[in-house]
Amino acid sequence: RAKELGGNRYEAYTERLNGDMYRRWTLEYELRRALERDELVLYYQPQVEAKGQAIVGVEALIRWHAKDGRIVSPAEFIPIAEETGLIVPIGEWVLRTACRQAVTWKKRGKPGVEMAVNVSPRQIRQDDFVERVKAILDETGMDPHDLQLEITESVAIEETNDAERKLAELKRLGIRLAMDDFGTGYSSLGYLQSFGVDTLKISQMFIRDVSGNESLAGIVRAIVAMATSLRLTIVAEGVEDQAQYEFLKSLGCDRIQGYYFHKPMPQQEIGKLFLESVS
Ligand code: C2E
Ligand code: MG
Ligand code: MG
Ligand code: MG
Repeated sequence: RAKELGGNRYEAYTERLNGDMYRRWTLEYELRRALERDELVLYYQPQVEAKGQAIVGVEALIRWHAKDGRIVSPAEFIPIAEETGLIVPIGEWVLRTACRQAVTWKKRGKPGVEMAVNVSPRQIRQDDFVERVKAILDETGMDPHDLQLEITESVAIEETNDAERKLAELKRLGIRLAMDDFGTGYSSLGYLQSFGVDTLKISQMFIRDVSGNESLAGIVRAIVAMATSLRLTIVAEGVEDQAQYEFLKSLGCDRIQGYYFHKPMPQQEIGKLFLESVS
């Protein structure tokens, strides 16, 4: 690989970089090409109703299938895409692909499934973020009412990005907003209100060890009580077993997303799942 990048000079240079930097550098280089070479893939993870267990939504989750067979986790490359600005074209690709997919499923007779798409702070920071989203809706024929954008608490704390105004404009089109990983950042009830958040996703961090842990259970209870009184839809993330599921259902959590019901899966698999559940 060093040869491709320019031979000896490159090698000498990389010796001076520590392993971490080197890794980031090559990752950035490869990520740029991943987009061009169609190595990025969307998986979809169903969200089910806590009560009836019907699929009511899916979250689009990006995967990078490198040509050499490696699968790189978004937890690894999204932060780098974020820092380098690559998240902007990647995020647009994600939104366009997810919308196209949702429109296709709807045409094939699976209505009423909401598509949730993660958007990064950097995307929202673009001056023309709203126009770009609108253009993708037009291009794909996506009904904004079927779309949910997942934002993180970091969006809310940046004061310079005018996020509140931009998101309000998208909400006027019918798009819904979810606060992702709630409770892990600078959680503020004020943000939920001023951003017009519709859905609150309880971080997997609280769910993972909730069984038999009274203080975690207490946190989850408090979040659900708060979200309920704000009339938010509550999604619990990372539900892996029956005990977690029963607990969350008993609290009045609306939706469950987790391996206990469904893992993220490629488009073909989820298409089959939908066809089975239709009719
Ligand atoms: P997230 O948005 O909070 O997504 C939920 C993560 O939890 C996903 O990890 C999902 O696979 C994982 N998960 C769901 N259920 C379970 C479970 O029961 N057990 C366990 N252990 N994990 C579960 P994933 O796909 O690796 O994505 C990690 C993060 O990368 C996402 O967290 C999101 O922050 C980011 N990400 C993924 N796709 C995109 C994207 O298209 N755009 C942006 N900006 N970020 C993305
Ligand atoms: Mg998410
Ligand atoms: Mg999350
Ligand atoms: Mg996250």
